[in-house]
Amino acid sequence: MKERVYISPSKYVQGRNAVQKIGQHLEGIGKTAVVIADETVWDIAGNDVVSYLKEANIRTENVVFNGEASTAEMDRIAGIAKEAEASIVIGVGGGKTLDTAKAVSDEVQAFTVIVPTTASTDAPTSALSVVYSDEGVFESYRFYNKNPDLVLLDSKIIAEAPPRFLASGIADALATYVEVRSVVNNKGNTMAGGQTTLAAQAIAKKCEEVLFDYALLAYESNERKVVTPALEHVIEANTLLSGLGFESGGLGAAHAIHNGFTALEGEIHHLTHGEKVAFGTLVQLTMEEHSQEEIEKYMALYMSLDLPITLEDIKLKDVSREDILKVAETATAEGETIHQAFSVTAEEVADAIVATDQYAKSFKGMLGIEEE
Ligand SMILES: [Zn+2]
Repeated sequence: MKERVYISPSKYVQGRNAVQKIGQHLEGIGKTAVVIADETVWDIAGNDVVSYLKEANIRTENVVFNGEASTAEMDRIAGIAKEAEASIVIGVGGGKTLDTAKAVSDEVQAFTVIVPTTASTDAPTSALSVVYSDEGVFESYRFYNKNPDLVLLDSKIIAEAPPRFLASGIADALATYVEVRSVVNNKGNTMAGGQTTLAAQAIAKKCEEVLFDYALLAYESNERKVVTPALEHVIEANTLLSGLGFESGGLGAAHAIHNGFTALEGEIHHLTHGEKVAFGTLVQLTMEEHSQEEIEKYMALYMSLDLPITLEDIKLKDVSREDILKVAETATAEGETIHQAFSVTAEEVADAIVATDQYAKSFKGMLGIEEE
């Protein structure tokens, strides 16, 4: 029997105005922090974080993230952190900024603080980063020997972010239970390296439950930029439940297919991680022989959240069979997580992509929604 492995961040704090207390959480930890945020996020939250740190007598080195979680960018910022002799690294922003902050912190062995300004992916809690090329093509997963020390989410900041980000996080989190279930059935390995614990399975199940109960309510709160219990539940599901669930529970086909889509050129690059994962999840469900009712349950929820369900929705209306095969081949490359879920060939994945698109079109047709 394989070992059961479960990992998690040391501390998770979520609530209205939670970021104002960042100084208290860092008391006695260190004197210098590198703060990483992209240009937009500096205005939204970065400058506030720096002023709260100042009140706590923590010096900061402020870095503008260039937008891509690439090796070059990780190395560049690690250089700045070394120069500053920082003992704290703080990432403020979305998935790619946070993944870069984790890499930088690992490089200089610092205390890692993750401050997500959206609930758009489940990246914040994990001890890994997804590394892309400078052009945004998936390259690899990079693993660290510890999870972030502190994950701090301010629900008010998240309520003020565009709802599309929350919907993307919901899609990323909806993949969690589907993927964990497949890894458990297949006795595959998790991202934490080992067999899925009962704890991770329970967390993944809870994640799914919360999303089917509250996703739309939370999305509507977010439309009006207000914090509600539904929004708090979904922020936790997208971030903590999905984060713990995918890492210690396992990734399967949905994320491998997402990675496959990053290999294509064109407008698909403007889609978020979660939007591509949404389609990948439907493809995984197609390959798993679920009933029409089960697949439609997901399609209906995605549609209510303005998430994509057809190839046209992910900007691949006229995609060639050749490109679909390219996606499928990337998704089934050696070492991809799809192999933890079930054994499948590239050709089978390609057929499932086409079938998913056709199911989704037919579902829209039943609802009276005409494709262009
Ligand atoms: Zn994801």
